[in-house]
Amino acid sequence: MTARAAQPSGARIYERCEALAQCSEESGALTRVYLSPEQRAANELVQGWMREAGMHTRLDEIGNVIGRYEGVRPGLPCLMLGSHLDTVRNAGKYDGMMGVVAAIDCVHALNARGARLAFAIEVSGFADEEGVRFNATLLGSRAVAGTFDAKVLDQRDAQGISMRDAMSAFGLDPDRVPHAARKRADVLAYAELHIEQGPVLEAEGLPVGVVTAINGANRYTVEVKGLAGHAGTVPMNLRQDALAAAAECVLAIETRCGREGDLVGTVGRLEAAPGATNVIPGDVRFTIDVRAPRDDQRRAAAADIKAAIGAICARRGVQFDLHPTHEGNTAACAPWLQEQIASAIATEGLPVRRLPSGAGHDGMAIVDLADIGMLFVRCKGGISHNPLEAITIDDADLSARVFLRFIESFRPAGERL
Ligand SMILES: [Zn+2]
Repeated sequence: MTARAAQPSGARIYERCEALAQCSEESGALTRVYLSPEQRAANELVQGWMREAGMHTRLDEIGNVIGRYEGVRPGLPCLMLGSHLDTVRNAGKYDGMMGVVAAIDCVHALNARGARLAFAIEVSGFADEEGVRFNATLLGSRAVAGTFDAKVLDQRDAQGISMRDAMSAFGLDPDRVPHAARKRADVLAYAELHIEQGPVLEAEGLPVGVVTAINGANRYTVEVKGLAGHAGTVPMNLRQDALAAAAECVLAIETRCGREGDLVGTVGRLEAAPGATNVIPGDVRFTIDVRAPRDDQRRAAAADIKAAIGAICARRGVQFDLHPTHEGNTAACAPWLQEQIASAIATEGLPVRRLPSGAGHDGMAIVDLADIGMLFVRCKGGISHNPLEAITIDDADLSARVFLRFIESFRPAGERL
């Protein structure tokens, strides 16, 4: 192979995801949380690969690994690439990690060709996206975006260790986190390659897709209060059955969210009390999670769902309390970046499929710093956050080629160079 033809390697991406999967706190399962010895081991692997690809590397003030590949001259603003290096408990090997190693492999190919671009490239391995340890997500990317909330430093993990103390033990200075924030003028855009974590691309036989938006979400907890009673003695027409009312609410949520293509609604947890075979349920708690690519669409659905729950409970003579527990707005992918990613896909001879992301990603934080774009890669069965998560070497190969083509052809918005 000539130097000019150097391409990213799906096999190497695959092997490196395997190597990262060995950095785990459990044997036989992958769990790697923020500020752990396993994170340090993963960081060292990634920094080694970055150096091998011709990058300078550093650990920033929150513990993100950052590799920089200079452009035609040093100090140019950068195209920021990356994803996260932390995992959920008993995770798959590709969520996050694939985006980091694929980006490094693209730089590796550029370096092998001796290619320098009109901008620098930085690859970030974000230290915490999943929020497993301190129950606060996107810590790494928020620090980079300058939106890190210092109150989180006092949050404690399951062992009672505060984030502040864990940072110090890791060798980081918690008071210096604000220095991880980047300047807008230094970052031209952020682009992330990530497995889809859903079944759409596989169902359509497509290896890659362009993400239109990272969906916003509303979450609620609902308590339905009826009247517990004897399952044998209370006639059906005199009951205040909280579970039957909740069941009708669940179906109303399903019906409302099923009406629009990209809207999704889920009741993921439901508990009935007192929970006995021979007692009418008097008290039921359940959760609601509603997501959509457009904020107006999500808010309209949430309002309709609240109204439907009110009507159902009134008709059935039960009370209810509904508490919002989370609201996050949609992070739209910039149309100009979507276009450039789409044209890289088309140039590889593939159909261009646009789809929203139902899962959260680092781009939700980085959008406060720079325009964001994402390339989704098909994963087996749409399964993620699960050891069964799987990709193919062919898809790793193809998606990294598309990503490299996007990088090489990248033009900043308004031609800022
Ligand atoms: Zn992820």
